Amino acid sequence: MSSKKSCNIENCGNESKKTVSREKAGAAIKEAGLSLDIRDKVQRIHLCSDHYRKIKKKLKKDREIDRLRWE
Ligand SMILES: [Zn+2]
Repeated sequence: MSSKKSCNIENCGNESKKTVSREKAGAAIKEAGLSLDIRDKVQRIHLCSDHYRKIKKKLKKDREIDRLRWE
């Protein structure tokens, strides 16, 4: 068994570079038109650098929306 984790995005087998919480990233991943390839109820999602960059933009947008909601 390999200890190396790979990206949890469907059809992506790249090496995991970042982990994000599933709670935070779930919506962003859907918004980016991507699907997760995980069966278990894991709390952390592994992402390769490419996918992390895509998700990060969405996460930032979500934070801005949250801030507007509270103002
Ligand atoms: Zn990936």
